[in-house]
Amino acid sequence: MAQIKTIGILTSGGDAPGMNAAIRAVTRSAIFSGFKVKAIYRGYRGLITDEIIEFKTQNVSNIVQQGGTILKTARCKEFTTPEGRQQAYDVMRKHGIDALVVIGGDGSLSGARVFANEYDVPIVGLPGTIDNDLYGTDHTIGYDTALNTIMWCVDRIRDTATSHERLFFIEVMGRNAGFLALNGAIASGAEAAIIPEISTEVDQLADLIKNGFRKSKNSSIVLVAESPITGGAMGLAERVRTEYPNYDVRVTILGHLQRGGSPTAQDRILASRMGAAAIDALLEGQRNVMIGDSNDEIVYVPFTKAVRKNKPIDPSLLETLRRLSI
Ligand code: ADP
Repeated sequence: MAQIKTIGILTSGGDAPGMNAAIRAVTRSAIFSGFKVKAIYRGYRGLITDEIIEFKTQNVSNIVQQGGTILKTARCKEFTTPEGRQQAYDVMRKHGIDALVVIGGDGSLSGARVFANEYDVPIVGLPGTIDNDLYGTDHTIGYDTALNTIMWCVDRIRDTATSHERLFFIEVMGRNAGFLALNGAIASGAEAAIIPEISTEVDQLADLIKNGFRKSKNSSIVLVAESPITGGAMGLAERVRTEYPNYDVRVTILGHLQRGGSPTAQDRILASRMGAAAIDALLEGQRNVMIGDSNDEIVYVPFTKAVRKNKPIDPSLLETLRRLSI
């Protein structure tokens, strides 16, 4: 393998709090180890349209505490075509970029995998997504901050839910994963979580109404993962209105609130460790791996595993939630 001199870095797909801490860690660790750093703006799109500048240590000053990504992020259809990727490769070569660090979710790492298979480019991925849905890592960058935001919001909704004795469905993000809904429910003391990992054979709403609500309770809060499998909060509320008309039901969709805000200490630390580990991985000759954390240790997860396998929900968490909501 040719020696790496210049590392390109980009953020892609959905943004997540802590991406800036990761950009800072990658940049500074790379410079510390004697590499040049090229910052690519707007994800894969910037790689195709040549939006690239060199980063020095001061380019990443004062960003560890900022949400979002200073590199901007984008979705890029052209990169899903061989012609688009050829263009991206040409631009990369023009800038002398020998290796890439890609910070993003499932889609971004799938793109990295395809690109790395087509061209002889070492790529290391960092799991940047609030959804926590990447296999091989216990946590993704941004997940803890989003969880804390959800908890903060639910605490406030509980005040009004209790005053009016209402049933609230609160929809949270997560795509087809229920981590935010399930752990958000535990953290905020919600009565239940409706998540896509539970088989569609089970009518989670009927079970909830049958077992979940006690007369002693004057309000109920249920967190719903946004997936079409759950029907979303709107779909469930519609069902309650027709099938269980005694309930006074309301819906709150937290939406993009969950993507913003200053990252928590946990996300900043995770992003910093993972960013430094990305450079270690390249120094060790690793390629086409995602950096993960497993039992608090840094691990390398091949892209094929990270994006192909479904990360399972721990069923004991569901049991805990059920026990604590009596
Ligand atoms: P996320 O990384 O948050 O999951 P997306 O799924 O939108 O976000 O993916 C981000 C970008 O990654 C896409 O816009 C596209 O450019 C690229 N991408 C995703 N999947 C592929 C693929 N199979 N082949 C090539 N590029 C891909």
